[in-house]
Amino acid sequence: MPPTPIPTAVRTLMELFAKNGERAYPVGGCVRDTLMGLPPHDWDVAVTTAPERTMEICRAAGYAVVPTGLKHGTVTVLVGEEKPRMPIECTTCRTEGGYSDGRHPDAVSFTGRIEDDLSRRDFTVNAMALDTAPDGTLCILDLFGGQTDLEEKILRCVGDPDTRFGEDALRLLRAIRFAVRLDFEIAPATYAAIRRGAAGLARISRERVASELKQILTGRNPDRGVALLMDSGLMPYILADIPVVLPADTRIADLPADYPTRLAAILWRTETETAHAALVSLKPSGEESHAVMTLLDDRAPLNSAAPIDMATARRLRHQYGALAHTRQILRAAFATTAADRTAEERLAQLIEASSAAREPVTAAELALGGRDLIALGVPAGPTVGKTMARLLDAVLDDPAQNTPEALSELVRKFQVE
Ligand code: ATP
Ligand code: MG
Repeated sequence: MPPTPIPTAVRTLMELFAKNGERAYPVGGCVRDTLMGLPPHDWDVAVTTAPERTMEICRAAGYAVVPTGLKHGTVTVLVGEEKPRMPIECTTCRTEGGYSDGRHPDAVSFTGRIEDDLSRRDFTVNAMALDTAPDGTLCILDLFGGQTDLEEKILRCVGDPDTRFGEDALRLLRAIRFAVRLDFEIAPATYAAIRRGAAGLARISRERVASELKQILTGRNPDRGVALLMDSGLMPYILADIPVVLPADTRIADLPADYPTRLAAILWRTETETAHAALVSLKPSGEESHAVMTLLDDRAPLNSAAPIDMATARRLRHQYGALAHTRQILRAAFATTAADRTAEERLAQLIEASSAAREPVTAAELALGGRDLIALGVPAGPTVGKTMARLLDAVLDDPAQNTPEALSELVRKFQVE
């Protein structure tokens, strides 16, 4: 018996089909989540009826029906009296024919047999259904050992893994995503097949690849996800074979959980033009792309071997402005190196200290302004700006220089150079 209760609407639908001499089986993710005691985010139901008959049965019971995907045998049924009524996707049990292109089944045939429907599913824990026993109690249809794998926390292909990844290479990424999200190990034979089949990812649309990557990066334990993507050999195909310098070790979990920041961390070690090409290959939205590139463009002072001292801290404040942004850059920079954890913390403390001491880090905070420079004999025009920049540079190195006297002295020095 599943530990999480089955919603009344789903039970009602199961009973309705049984009364009509047919079957409606909750199947896939909702069964897996229910058995794990997690709330499923939707309930998919496999039915023994063809779509027309599914609609007929449901309409006769007074439920609204939307033919959402007739080609795939799917109709959405709005079950229950109370609003909002629960939408349940009902899909005719089917097999999938050959996959000559490695991504779409050549033919889908509606067989109405749950055994066929479970066999086409990707992993054993995703290939279970709920059924009603003759005495009315719920039971689990588990043809491939999904319950054992769930207990042992193992992600395993249904059937021969090479064949299954060969049929649909998106499953390579789904395997990593589910293993990481569920905190499961990948069965050795399944993992070996992922490594052998990695190149198959090249056949998958870039949007679908990016969608899986996004879920891995923003989900729980992204660092294990990245490590698995690298170890399995999938990462180069995700990045379209663009020569990205992959991080040796990652602590992406420390970063804000948004896709651009975490993607920037993956691209952090790669020079900007190449990183941009890899980014574009993932077809990001304009907003995502802008956010990633802003982070990458801003990383320059942190990529040089800058010493960890107050002068570096002031330069970072000058470069990044708001403290929160500085902190974000800092985290992204250090999230992808194995060694520098304490360096990051020290630098962060220095930045806070510099900010708390209100040390000057912008031209506006200098003790002399443009007019003062002209009064000192600096010719009006571009030289004023250049002189201000040199003064700021000196003050970033040593804030004690930020007095009218000391700066005037410096201006005189620049004039004789
Ligand atoms: P999630 O909680 O992420 O939605 P889910 O298990 O519901 O997890 P879906 O992608 O919504 O995953 O797919 C629903 C079910 O359909 C899966 O549990 C699996 O049985 C099957 N499935 C989905 N995609 C594939 C695929 N590419 N190959 C084989 N079976 C698949
Ligand atoms: Mg789902």
